[in-house]
Amino acid sequence: MSTPNELARPHVPQLHAYTPGFQPTGNDWIKLNTNESPYPPSPKVSEAIRAVVREDGAALRLYPSPTSAPLRSQVAEIHDVSSDQVIIGNGSDDILNLLVRVFGGPDVSTGYTLPSYSLYPVLVAIQDGRVSTIEFDRSMALPVEQIARSDARAFFLTSPNAPTGVGFSNRVIEEVLEKFSGLLVVDEAYAPFADENVTILLNRYPNLVVVRTLSKAHALAGMRVGYALTSVETIGLLDRVRDSYNVNQLSQAAAAAALSDSIYYDGVIGRIKRTRDYWLAVWRDRGWFIYDSAANFLFVEPCDSTGQSGPTVAASLFEFLKSKKILVRSFPSHALTAPFLRISVGTDDEMVAVDKAIQAWLNHDP
Ligand code: PMP
Repeated sequence: MSTPNELARPHVPQLHAYTPGFQPTGNDWIKLNTNESPYPPSPKVSEAIRAVVREDGAALRLYPSPTSAPLRSQVAEIHDVSSDQVIIGNGSDDILNLLVRVFGGPDVSTGYTLPSYSLYPVLVAIQDGRVSTIEFDRSMALPVEQIARSDARAFFLTSPNAPTGVGFSNRVIEEVLEKFSGLLVVDEAYAPFADENVTILLNRYPNLVVVRTLSKAHALAGMRVGYALTSVETIGLLDRVRDSYNVNQLSQAAAAAALSDSIYYDGVIGRIKRTRDYWLAVWRDRGWFIYDSAANFLFVEPCDSTGQSGPTVAASLFEFLKSKKILVRSFPSHALTAPFLRISVGTDDEMVAVDKAIQAWLNHDP
């Protein structure tokens, strides 16, 4: 009898699953490792969830809207596109997966930059797809000509980038859209924290796909809702490979409530940006290199008390912070990212605690 490993498609036993940031149990951690919001979602979200489960929860007997129809129209209105230019996903990871299913595979290549969101290679590997990667240099300037020459059917560009936080201007992205013959997927998970975003280019460029999430600025990582905006034709393709009920009733209701409360979120986003810019300036003044951030995190290259930086220094600070129950993220697998730590922007109190711990590390305190 054959073993399951022998029966599986040959590439599957070789796959490495995506490694999510550590999700600790217990409330005594300062958790700045997965770019979640440090603030709660709009109060309208819990009201909307309570309204769905009201009394005996009878509404839950029914399947949700298969296309998340009301939410789809609401998203369309927000971005001034038609609702058949919108698809809703179980988190934006679901959307990214649909894109790779449709446009990737063993006979075509899927493109992305290095470094960028480390889920892309995992999704391509699941489809046994070919990859075409483009390396940043330390400046993190967008290699426009190289992307333009890529043979990728779909090229994933994270803007603002993860894990660096660097945002690309619409002018530069437009240059790529003009020159690249494939589909350009701009993953705008962090765009609400940036000064610019490419949604305004949608109706001019049918080869543009914008992917958004409610996990970051909208503080709904636990509900899993994301969406894409693109041409009617591309949405039609994505809809063909989507799970029929990919977004549950509670998540649809929560997302709709969140998107209806832009006043609340403008306040929260403003606060996060102010905290981000304050600590960026403080740590830079201390002599640390930090990329300009258009996101809700800082990508910092720590120096130790002798002024040294590098992968060992970053690893030392990472472990020290962890020993103080502060979680940040390290990216040791790429030369450009290994000397850095990514610190999600927390509340002001959390950031003060991080800074205190950094001072203790610098002073070799226990
Ligand atoms: N894109 C990027 C660049 C991200 O960092 C993340 C979060 N890790 C996602 C997409 C996925 O977000 P979600 O699936 O929670 O919507």
